[in-house]
Formats: sequence, C-alpha cells, structure tokens
Amino acid sequence: MNNPLGWLGKSVSEGVRSRTVRHRSTVQLKSARELGLMRDAGRIVAQALDKVRQAVIPGVTTGELNRLVAEHFDSVSAVPLFKGVPSSMKGKPSFPAVVCASVNEQVVHGVPGSRVLKEGDVISIDTGCRLNGWCGDSAYTFAVGNISAEKQRLLDVTRETLAIAIETMKTAKTWSVVAHEMEIYVRRHGMSVIEQFVGHGIGQTMHEEPQVPNYVSESLRKQDFLLEPGLVLAIEPMVALGTKNVRVLPDGWTVETTDRRAAAHFEHTVAMTSDGPRILTLLEG
Ligand code: MG
Ligand code: MG
Repeated sequence: MNNPLGWLGKSVSEGVRSRTVRHRSTVQLKSARELGLMRDAGRIVAQALDKVRQAVIPGVTTGELNRLVAEHFDSVSAVPLFKGVPSSMKGKPSFPAVVCASVNEQVVHGVPGSRVLKEGDVISIDTGCRLNGWCGDSAYTFAVGNISAEKQRLLDVTRETLAIAIETMKTAKTWSVVAHEMEIYVRRHGMSVIEQFVGHGIGQTMHEEPQVPNYVSESLRKQDFLLEPGLVLAIEPMVALGTKNVRVLPDGWTVETTDRRAAAHFEHTVAMTSDGPRILTLLEG
C-alpha cells in the first residue's frame, strides 16, 4: 500500500547509508521571541480543545464539535490550518473542516459531519491554527460518557506515551532516544504504534522538517536529529489496541485500522529551550 501521506507527515527519505545527525541546515530553529508567538498560537489551540472537552457528550455530532472550534478561532482572528488542505489522493476533495474528528477505529483525518457520538465511543480531535504568522497544533482523544476498560487503557497509554516523550527530551540528545522510549512503552502495554503517520517540525507553516516518528524507523536509524534549543516539534503518538496497519476510506481522508479496533491520538507542540522542553499547546503556563 502506498503511504497515503496526509498532512501529518510523510515517509522519511531513504538512501542515507551511514548514520548521520541532521544539523541546522534543514531545521529552522526559533528565537525566544518566536517561541513566544508560537505559545500564543498554541494557547488558542488549547482553548479550542478545552471547548471540545466540555461539549463531548453522547448525542453531540462531530460537526458541532467542528463548529465550536471554528467559532473560537474566528473569535480571535486565528487562521485554521486544516481547512482546504489538498487530499493526497487524486480526485478527492480538499479537507473541508477545521478539526479532524476520528471515532473509535478511525486513527486520524476523520471528516466531521452528521455523525452522532454514542456512549462508549472515543473521539480524537486534532486541530491547529496560525496566529500572527505562527502555528500551533494539538490533538486529544476524548471518552464519550462511560467507555470500556480497554478503551480507557488505550487513552491512558497514548497520553502517557506523549508525556514520556516530553520527559525523555529533558535528557536525550537526539530524537531516536525519545522514539525508542515511546515505542517500548506502547509495546509493553500490548498495543501498537501507528507507523504510517508521524509528527513534524512546526513554525510559520504547520509542516516543517524534521519528520518526527513515534518509533525508531529505519530512516531515523540512518539519520537522527539533534534536540537543540529553538527546535519546535509537533509530537503526536498514534496508538492502536490491535494492528498498526491502516487504510484510507473512500472519502480520501479518514484513516482507520484494518482490524477496526480502536486507536487514540494525543499531540502537543513542544519547544526545546535551554531549560528543557516546553509545551506550547497548554491552557496555562
Ligand atoms: Mg501535527
Ligand atoms: Mg495535529
């Protein structure tokens, strides 16, 4: 299966024979002033996801959640990043909404609409905006009412995987060390890291170098990158209860697990600073 790409990321380029570490030439490091502007954008994204959190109850539609976020971005003159992104599949429409809303077995890139959420569902909401020229990108998987113990464990493990990544960045020199910790944590809990989609650098555009896999990919083994002050990454583990294999639905967007077991997705925009990693997509701090 071809990599369906999507805008979360793309396959890491192959062909580098010896292990190298990527340097500044391909990665744009941000100044303290720029990180401040990215924090402002990240706060707006966090506020939008907080509005979603309060609205996720049985009976709400994914389209209503999208509207809440669109209204919030509009109220602060933030530009939504997802709407209008072209599909990577020929002949398919560009993305029509400001959030991705992915329910249960849907991993990422679900298209919001008339679907009504039911008790026991899990829903991943991913969104991003640009404010004053700088971007923020974050995702959260919410429980709809009471969910099964298995789904709760999935949410916990995925959220913890993101937390472990950020914690590991306090001491790691390169990303492969972080990716390894993420991968073994998920495996230890009998779950799978989705490999076909990865995180990304972020700044004035949503997708910048480097690509940020949630596992030690072959490409990462060959070409690692340094965790240096000014680096800003959208870190976004996607974890499945069953298989890591995914497919894209005929809408050209929605990605689901091939065994149709549930998946979860948590994401923060994180800056490396001389004082360690700083999460830019939080409400406070
Ligand atoms: Mg992202
Ligand atoms: Mg995102």
